[in-house]
Amino acid sequence: MFNSLSDRLAATFKNLKGKGRLSEADIDATAREIRRALLDADVAVPVVREFISHVKERALGEEVSQALNPGQQIVKIVNEELVAILGGETRRLNLAKNPPTVIMLVGLQGAGKTTLAGKLSKHLKEQGHTPMLVAADLQRPNAVKQLQVNGERAGVPVYAPHPGVSSEFEDPSGDPVQVARNGVAEATAKYNDIVIVDTAGRLGMDAELMQQAADIRAAVQPDEVLFVLDAMIGQDAVATAQAFNEGVGFTGVVLSKLDGDARGGAALSVRSVTGKPVMFASTGENLGDFEVFHPDRMASRILD
Ligand code: GDP
Repeated sequence: MFNSLSDRLAATFKNLKGKGRLSEADIDATAREIRRALLDADVAVPVVREFISHVKERALGEEVSQALNPGQQIVKIVNEELVAILGGETRRLNLAKNPPTVIMLVGLQGAGKTTLAGKLSKHLKEQGHTPMLVAADLQRPNAVKQLQVNGERAGVPVYAPHPGVSSEFEDPSGDPVQVARNGVAEATAKYNDIVIVDTAGRLGMDAELMQQAADIRAAVQPDEVLFVLDAMIGQDAVATAQAFNEGVGFTGVVLSKLDGDARGGAALSVRSVTGKPVMFASTGENLGDFEVFHPDRMASRILD
């Protein structure tokens, strides 16, 4: 009957509008509902615990506005705190002073990196940039071809490790580090102002592939390393993000598959645990299914 958190909390307090300050009892009465809403949205358990204690601390003694009842007042606080943790403002890409800006994509296999590479390049092209894609995922047999198809759709050149495809360079070793390096060199030579390097994913926490991504990072010194995270993986998001943050290091997060049922609690978990902001959202299989991430919209989605 009451679907959203706001409805449920408002109902807890009926219509006691503007009743002085929030008490411990008011807050305790709502904590269970807030906890449930966050867990339903797949926010990690320890993150939920910390968040609730933070909200309690802030809410205690706060004046209830005349227009609201205590439940609504607490929803307002929860919403503001969510937006604050998610980063407040949208974090923009850090562009290099001396182009090309190098953006490297990392994440588990199937997370949506290759798809995102196409989407991001299209988005940047529409903003007047001249991006180039680099296919340094030599692990998955079809990844290079898939990136070439995405590049073609986006109208963006792709550096691929096959002589004669789009490059004067050759990568006879099939070494992804060398491919990444050559791709960036080609973009520099051709005055592409942004290079997006797609890297191999892994199904689990594979030490060898993690090292490969770390080696690519060291070789091309990216301005941004974007960790692409499938929003559907729910509670596993934290462990995955931590592994990539420690193994490779990243500067921002892209949440993919937000067109599904996932409510996006992973955004909150990853932000709290790694401190890294979510910057973009991927919302479908098509090139245009892409959004700049807005913390306030995500907060509403998590609390929906
Ligand atoms: P990669 O292994 O990380 O490069 O992942 P891919 O880009 O190949 O994506 C894996 C699968 O997920 C493909 O079938 C994509 O079409 C699909 N996919 C990627 N992003 C999204 C998204 O935002 N929404 C949906 N529904 N599917 C997606």
